[in-house]
Amino acid sequence: MGSFGKLVNIYSEIENISSHKKIVDLLSSFFKELEPKQVRVASYLALGTIGPKFEDIDLGIGDKLIIKAISSAYGISREKVEEEFSIHGDLGDVASKFNERQRSSVDMEDVFAQMVKIRDVSGEGSQGEKISLLSGILEKSTPEESKYIIRIALGKLRLGFGEKFLIEALAVAFTDKRDNAGKIEDTYNICTDIGQLARSLAEHGISSMGRFSIKLGRPVQMMLAKRVDTIEELDQKFPGKMAAEEKYDGERVQIHVNGNDIVAFSRRLENISSQFPDIISAVSKSIKSDKAVLDGEIVAYDKGKIQPFQKLMQRRRKHNVEEYIEKIPVAVFFFDIIYLNGKSLLKKSYPERRKILDDNIRESDSVKLSRRTVSSDFSRIRDFFEKSIEKGLEGIIVKSVEKKSVYQPGKRGWLWVKWKKEYAEGMRETFDLVIVGTYFGKGKRKGSFGALLCAVLNEDKDRYETFTKVGTGFSDDDFDEINDLLEKYFIDNAPGNVNISKMMEPDRYVEPAIVIEVLGSRITTSPGHTAGKDNSKKGFALRFPRFLRIRYDKGPVDATTVEEIGELK
Ligand code: AMP
Repeated sequence: MGSFGKLVNIYSEIENISSHKKIVDLLSSFFKELEPKQVRVASYLALGTIGPKFEDIDLGIGDKLIIKAISSAYGISREKVEEEFSIHGDLGDVASKFNERQRSSVDMEDVFAQMVKIRDVSGEGSQGEKISLLSGILEKSTPEESKYIIRIALGKLRLGFGEKFLIEALAVAFTDKRDNAGKIEDTYNICTDIGQLARSLAEHGISSMGRFSIKLGRPVQMMLAKRVDTIEELDQKFPGKMAAEEKYDGERVQIHVNGNDIVAFSRRLENISSQFPDIISAVSKSIKSDKAVLDGEIVAYDKGKIQPFQKLMQRRRKHNVEEYIEKIPVAVFFFDIIYLNGKSLLKKSYPERRKILDDNIRESDSVKLSRRTVSSDFSRIRDFFEKSIEKGLEGIIVKSVEKKSVYQPGKRGWLWVKWKKEYAEGMRETFDLVIVGTYFGKGKRKGSFGALLCAVLNEDKDRYETFTKVGTGFSDDDFDEINDLLEKYFIDNAPGNVNISKMMEPDRYVEPAIVIEVLGSRITTSPGHTAGKDNSKKGFALRFPRFLRIRYDKGPVDATTVEEIGELK
């Protein structure tokens, strides 16, 4: 029996430690004791979820239903549960408080199976059914277990570690070598279902990692672009011929075509098909093959003209989609293809892939191929950039045309390099930063935040380190929108994966979840910020930051990295 209690012990220990190594060691010793068939479920649960991101992992229950479930499981009146909730502010704590009878531990796979059932019930009477399923598990669990069951059900486990730590723990548990984490991560970029990967490691060891390939319906991490400081650097990075493509400012999308079954995934690997039924249907008419995986950018597009990013963000909605299809028409610009009719194209060069893409897409009003130029004459590349800017685009992405120009899932390498208008206008850079704290506003901004404490991602340490405090550039609407968004993510203390120095201590801490794009003028060093800081070095800091926009399409793991800043400095 895989006791859920053991996992719960790990959760509560991890809550009190911040040492990377200790967290990994705890997780790996837990995994070592499991049977291979339990490893899949344990991997999802360790991350506080019930499946890979590209599946529906939302149980569809909020505070109200949870309150009813606690009340029914422990025979306490609803009013009493609500009262306790208003004092503790955490329904997990409330459940464990009312769960007075000590029971034997509940089975881990049972907890998981019930949660999946809760997610899957729909239609009339589904709310009652969800409550009774949840209350059923609560009845069987110990107080400590019920606390975490509630947190997982609400999607609020917040242990402060992500896939990277888990991968390291899996490497230690099943291959005895921490160094294998890199290899597992490379595979995870292709097979983004951590549960499946973990199970394979437990059953067949590290050698099984080489066997994973693209599978329709399971998104691959997207390839990313590096940036340079001057346009001349592009010439040095790509001696000889290069391709320059227009850079579209919209939302990255990976579209999987499997006959009539067409699914769109976001950069965060979430299924966004329901937001873009118009794109799905346009792609079904434009694709000439039966099975394919396409990579591109969705933009707001009206009467043949690309519209600003802000417009497209209004399409990020669950309701009234039909109405918005008319209000905000969109188009997709495809720039890559990584799978065709049963074969992965990841190892093919960019010119080969582009040819296959061109051959398999019929352009239409809303399905386009990225415009580009290929040349060894650098003045032609410059011209192409200027023309793109005149057209109102953001810039260009220059791509290697060499034989080795493979598709690198999840990698930000030198095969793709972006050059944007902002870069060309002097030392003005944009950064994608994660909000980790807020400072109270004064005067006109009373009741709102006055400034946001923002962080970059330190990939080596798998944590967020502060880089700047942003207090300008917000319109009144921005204030409202950000205040609303923040509400869900305020927490009492800095989580284990955020490093904030005493000097920068914010008035309120924010769980890393919201990404904003910020324009800054100069990178300096500062004793107050922790970005890239170690015993011998001060942290990096961004001077004169200015808020540009919220990046709903990006998650914290997509933030600008310490390494990128180091390269710019
Ligand atoms: P950034 O988000 O600033 O790191 O720029 C990289 C992003 O540009 C990619 O993730 C794509 O979403 C987007 N993009 C727009 N046009 C292209 C293109 N032609 N080729 C590759 N990426 C593009």
